[in-house]
Amino acid sequence: MSNRFGKLAWDSERPPQPKREMPMALHRERSDGPYHSYRWTRLSRAFRVSHPICAECERAGRIVPSTCVDHIVPWPICEDFFDEKNLQALCDRCNMEKGNRDKKRIARWKRIHQKEDKQ
Ligand SMILES: [Zn+2]
Repeated sequence: MSNRFGKLAWDSERPPQPKREMPMALHRERSDGPYHSYRWTRLSRAFRVSHPICAECERAGRIVPSTCVDHIVPWPICEDFFDEKNLQALCDRCNMEKGNRDKKRIARWKRIHQKEDKQ
């Protein structure tokens, strides 16, 4: 038997690891759980049907079909994942650009909240 199998067997026999204390928001960010839920699949599909045009392109005067549904206040820092008022339909390009802006926003949010946790 190879070492790989040996290691796997050993891993599975290890006692459960103690739970690490983590702020809730970080916990949520690691898991993309809601994106895999039936509720989100159904909601995002219906949202795109009623919002067939990319919202950001439309604001810029371009008519581009939407391909995905975006959280205006990004997950995981929005209050309610399923709040339709926090959703907008975007095309691939706008979604990518928005994703980059969101990363900075989430990083800034974490810096502020982690400081609060330490006090
Ligand atoms: Zn767009």
